Amino acid sequence: MRFGIKTLDEFDVRGKTVLCRVDINQPVDREKGTLKSINRIRACVPTVRELSDKGARVVLLAHQGSDIEYKNYYTTRPHAAVLSELLGREVKWIDDVCGPAARDAIRALKDGEILLLDNVRFVAEEQTLFEKKLRLSHAEQAKTLLVTKLAPLADLYVCDAFAAAHRDQPSLCGFEQLLPSAMGRLFEQEYCAVSQVMEQPERPCVFVLGGAKIADAFEMMQTVLSRGVADRILTGGLVGNIFLCAQGREIGQGSVDFILKSNYGEFIDRAKELCAQYGEKIAVPCDLAWVENGERQEAPLGAVPAHIAAVDIGAQTAAQYREVILAAGTVFVNGPMGVFEQTASEYGTKTVWQAIAETKGYSVLGGGDSITATEKYALTDRMGYICTGGGALIRFLSGEELPVVRALRHAAQRQEGDNVQ
Ligand code: ADP
Ligand code: MG
Repeated sequence: MRFGIKTLDEFDVRGKTVLCRVDINQPVDREKGTLKSINRIRACVPTVRELSDKGARVVLLAHQGSDIEYKNYYTTRPHAAVLSELLGREVKWIDDVCGPAARDAIRALKDGEILLLDNVRFVAEEQTLFEKKLRLSHAEQAKTLLVTKLAPLADLYVCDAFAAAHRDQPSLCGFEQLLPSAMGRLFEQEYCAVSQVMEQPERPCVFVLGGAKIADAFEMMQTVLSRGVADRILTGGLVGNIFLCAQGREIGQGSVDFILKSNYGEFIDRAKELCAQYGEKIAVPCDLAWVENGERQEAPLGAVPAHIAAVDIGAQTAAQYREVILAAGTVFVNGPMGVFEQTASEYGTKTVWQAIAETKGYSVLGGGDSITATEKYALTDRMGYICTGGGALIRFLSGEELPVVRALRHAAQRQEGDNVQ
């Protein structure tokens, strides 16, 4: 047991049918039918390999969204081929989720064999819950089609999908109500890494927050500041622009328009409140960069032209942030410092990411775009811990008990209760 959740060490899985929920949701190239990245598939390999090596009959459940706002779900077929390649053993795949064909395929599995089912979000209950049109309790999720059809075929449920641990859906929180349940190795590892930041960070503990997920970023800042976890927050990207706006600095009309157009106006007030309460802990950019005729331009605050849209922190800010990161005991990173996808606006992110790679402090980095930046600058092996989760990670650091963690804990308590009787 760890964090009140059972681990794979507590189960003998030989000859057992194990339903294993993974998060291998990756950016897809819909036209070519290929995956643009495979880092999450790679991350779940240890758990799948261990289960298969130990002689379990492994049934993998997974979802795949698309690049367009979670709509247009896509098949998991390409994932099976990639996983097969990474494992060096066959991964069967079936174009069914919990219908008769899927159930027959599960029954036909032999010890050590692996089967990936098609996208669980093809099943309506998983989808509508996702879209928050329908809220089901965990007990009600146990009565959904997916869970009632698959649970009777299985001996154990394993959740290795930390990246989806903030989702309250049947494939993630329903099986725990009926089956003995454990977290997989990746889940365990990610939980440990993020707990370390939250519970006992080496000081100073520095948060590097950029990017464009504003609501999440503010929620997290509030928690880590009020709990005394963060000693310093370095802001960049859209987050930084909002703070500068709150301080009444000139950041260019393009930047302001972007904030208002994205409906982030209310966060300017939130930023004012945070500054009033925790001012000295929050670092804001001292210079900004924008792009004009394809060329990068920079100016210190006070000299930023009125019409521009700031798309990166400036070189001065990057240098200051670099020093803070190098002196940190812990660095938590989510969200790039600018629009790093374009060469003219990548300097801030590149410099800060380089410092994160160089620091002796323990670094934890998460978020799809933050990981893409890490890969772009070839720093993957030099970061402390790269978390596959973005939303889950932030929600965790906001102090929320994640629905999947709650479901797994509940299952462990129930199992302990059964053992006592
Ligand atoms: P992550 O995926 O790492 O959690 P986000 O999704 O929150 O990060 O933010 C990444 C996106 O934010 C990138 O596409 C990047 O181009 C964009 N971005 C960064 N800085 C700015 C900025 N100043 N203005 C607009 N968009 C920005
Ligand atoms: Mg992103």
